[in-house]
Amino acid sequence: VDVTQKPKGEYDVIIVGSGIAGLTCGALLSKRGYKVLVLEQHHKVGGYCSSFKRKDFVFNTGVENVSGLWEKGPVTYLLKELGFKKDELFAKNRMKYIFKGKEIDASNLEEFIKVLLEMFPEEKDNICAFFDEAKKAYEECYKDLVYGVPLPAELIVKVFGAKKLLDYPKEHPHFFDWMNKTYKQKLDEFFTNEDLKTLLCALLGYLGTKPEETRASSALTAVVSYYLHGGYFPKRGAQRFADRLKEFIECNSGKVLTRHRVDKIIVEKGEVRGVRVGNKIFKSPIVVANANAKTTFLELVGEENLDRDFVEYIKKLKMSPSCFMVFLGVDMDLSSYPTIIENLDEGYSIAINSNDSGLAPKGKASITILTGANYHDFPERGTKEYLERKKEFAEMLIKKAGKIIPNLSKHIVVQDATTPKTLERYTSMPEGAIYAFDQSINTKRPYFKTPIKGLYLASASTFPGGGIEAVVISGIICANDIYGWNRRGCKDGNENRKN
Ligand SMILES: Cc1cc2nc3c(=O)[nH]c(=O)nc-3n(C[C@H](O)[C@H](O)[C@H](O)COP(=O)(O)OP(=O)(O)OC[C@H]3O[C@@H](n4cnc5c(N)ncnc54)[C@H](O)[C@@H]3O)c2cc1C
Repeated sequence: VDVTQKPKGEYDVIIVGSGIAGLTCGALLSKRGYKVLVLEQHHKVGGYCSSFKRKDFVFNTGVENVSGLWEKGPVTYLLKELGFKKDELFAKNRMKYIFKGKEIDASNLEEFIKVLLEMFPEEKDNICAFFDEAKKAYEECYKDLVYGVPLPAELIVKVFGAKKLLDYPKEHPHFFDWMNKTYKQKLDEFFTNEDLKTLLCALLGYLGTKPEETRASSALTAVVSYYLHGGYFPKRGAQRFADRLKEFIECNSGKVLTRHRVDKIIVEKGEVRGVRVGNKIFKSPIVVANANAKTTFLELVGEENLDRDFVEYIKKLKMSPSCFMVFLGVDMDLSSYPTIIENLDEGYSIAINSNDSGLAPKGKASITILTGANYHDFPERGTKEYLERKKEFAEMLIKKAGKIIPNLSKHIVVQDATTPKTLERYTSMPEGAIYAFDQSINTKRPYFKTPIKGLYLASASTFPGGGIEAVVISGIICANDIYGWNRRGCKDGNENRKN
């Protein structure tokens, strides 16, 4: 594809969906001179990384705790590439776990280890050995990153050559070991105390998997990373991060159109030609699908354009779990509370914001309580049964949270709630899945390069999975591949280079 010879008025790249992977990819390509068009069905950008307002309070539709913002983290890399300042966009969370009635400060590793040593003195050496190995494995995963992000095996071969992949186990011995075990196996390797193991699974909700079906390396990057480097809250709400990416694209000659639902990705002779929105056609030799991969292949591309085995594979992919959230604006100053509390005893997590004037007026707080929920447990939206189920869930969560925030129910100024069906409605994500496909060791996500020439995936549906850090990685990989891996030894390094 020679983008320098594009017909006037058309686009180099069209991105279907404005989730963070789509916006990341679009921002990086527009920085490199590509003419980018982002089409979003909703009236605002961000997908799961957005916010909404009720009276004086702002709530996030999901994102409250972001990883990858340490020195070598992929989100830090993206911010630097785009000239954004980390401190303007993110604030470090104060985290606490509640386990067997005990409150455990998990805001930084030293404090956390100190509490663990007090709680489990008989496991002292094992705790130190576990974190020592975890740190080594984590460092290895992020070492020598030429493009700011870890790459999947296929890309290591493509970008650096087969030898690099063959040498991977030798160069990354600890991380490689974590790649080949489950998180349960790793925990069993170090510990005997079951309570300690349970506590170290406190954040497994960030993957939506059980320890025995979680790849230890996934737990390392999506869970243990919060112990090592902390998690961050998007200042003034998650929408702001998405909006900044949108503005970047627009400032670099790109276009972002909301309320534009793509009905079809146009494919001719196995190659992508553009997209159709209603009866309007937008042409482009490259389309990046940020919409989830099931919708992308089964509805937008259409089975008729795909191999039958591939269609079967996509159809069979299991979705990750969903959740129920209740949003509360309260007239209480909760600034002394941690910003994130994971209550393992009662099975919910709570995000509390009293210090961010962009989210709640002074002396008040914006609160989100979240618990796992099954899509199929909720009847059809709008029905009496659905509203009852929603009320039931909200009351149950408010009651539970009232145990850690006394008199909570008496101070509610505004209240709203989200079910798996709401999540599905606003993002078209099947079953309102939090992380697109199931993230267990048994699920193989589709590769970001699709069987259709010119059609790419950049989203939680592809490598490495769900979560802001992961989808930023996906967006960076996709942009680099379109741009051409700018490195000697790369087979098709210059194929799509702009200048
Ligand atoms: C409740 C909840 C809490 C979460 N909390 C955190 C957290 O604290 N930290 C963290 O790191 N991650 C969190 N996540 C996960 C994280 O938000 C997601 O993994 C990530 O935002 C997904 O990004 P994405 O780029 O894959 O796109 P998505 O956010 O899935 O967005 C896809 C976009 O495509 C659009 N779209 C779909 N179909 C079409 C179409 N046909 N035409 C046009 N547009 C279309 C959708 O409207 C949507 O805007 C949470 C997720 C949820 C649901």
